[in-house]
Amino acid sequence: MGSVGAKEVPVLLTADQRRIDGRRLDELRPLKITAGALKQADGSAFVEWGLNKVMAAVYGPREVHPRHLQVNDKAIVQCRYNMAAFSVDERKRPGLDRRSQEISKVIAEAFESVIFAEEYPRTSIDVYIEVLQANAGTRCAGVVAASVALADAGIPMVDLLPSVAVGKIDGHIALDLKKEEDNFGEADLPMALVPQSGRLVLLQMEGHMTRDELSQALDLGVSGCRQIYTVMKSALRERYDAGGVARTEVAA
Ligand code: ADP
Repeated sequence: MGSVGAKEVPVLLTADQRRIDGRRLDELRPLKITAGALKQADGSAFVEWGLNKVMAAVYGPREVHPRHLQVNDKAIVQCRYNMAAFSVDERKRPGLDRRSQEISKVIAEAFESVIFAEEYPRTSIDVYIEVLQANAGTRCAGVVAASVALADAGIPMVDLLPSVAVGKIDGHIALDLKKEEDNFGEADLPMALVPQSGRLVLLQMEGHMTRDELSQALDLGVSGCRQIYTVMKSALRERYDAGGVARTEVAA
C-alpha cells in the first residue's frame, strides 16, 4: 500500500506492469454471456464480467406507456438502468438516483442510433438493465447485456454494441478497469462501438488524459470492444444452435 495524503491507496501497477488481479494493461476481465436467461422477457441476457453480474431484459416492440411519448413514424427506445441495493459493498439507497438516470439516458441514446426504429411506428422498445453485483464498468456490462438481449428479442439493428471502459492507472492506459482501479486511478473512459463502421455511440470521460493518452485509450478500447463482440456473437449463436438458453464462456 502506498499513501496519498492521509488516504491509503493500493499499488495499482507492479514494476513489471501487472495489475491488482494479475492482468496486463491490455487484458479484459473474464467475460461470460448467457443469451436468453429469462423466460418472460421477449429477449434477455445475463453478463458475468469480472465481479460484475448484470441482467438485461427487453420487451417490445409494444404499446407505448405513457401514451403521450408515442411517436408516429418510429419506435421509441426506453431504458432503465438500475443498481440493486445489495450490488455494492456499502448499501446503496434503492431506486433511481441521478447517476442511474444519466446512465439510462446515454444507453437509450446509444441503442437509438443502431435500432431500425422506423420499422415499428407508434411502439416502444423497453430495455431493463439490473446490476446485481457491481465492480466498475457496470454501464458497459449493461450495454453488452442489453445488446445481446435486443438481438435475442429479434429487434433489427445495424450491429451489436460491444462496450468497455478504458482508464489510466499509475500514468498508464489500461483496459477494463476494476473497482480499485476506478476508485484510485486517474481517468475512466467508457465507450460503446459499432464494430462494422467503427462508430462510437457512447463515449464518456471522468478524470484527465492528454491528447496522446486519449488517442491511445480509444485504440485500446476499440480493440477491447472487438474481443467482446466475438463473445457476444458466440453467445447468440449458441442460443440458436441449442434452441434454448445458451451460455458462452470465454476467459479473456
Ligand atoms: P460504472 O459502473 O459504469 O463504472 P461508475 O464509474 O459511476 O459507473 O461507478 C463505478 C463503480 O462504483 C460501480 O461499478 C460500483 O462498483 C461503484 N458505485 C457506483 N455507485 C455507487 C453507489 N451509489 N454506492 C456504492 N458504490 C457505487
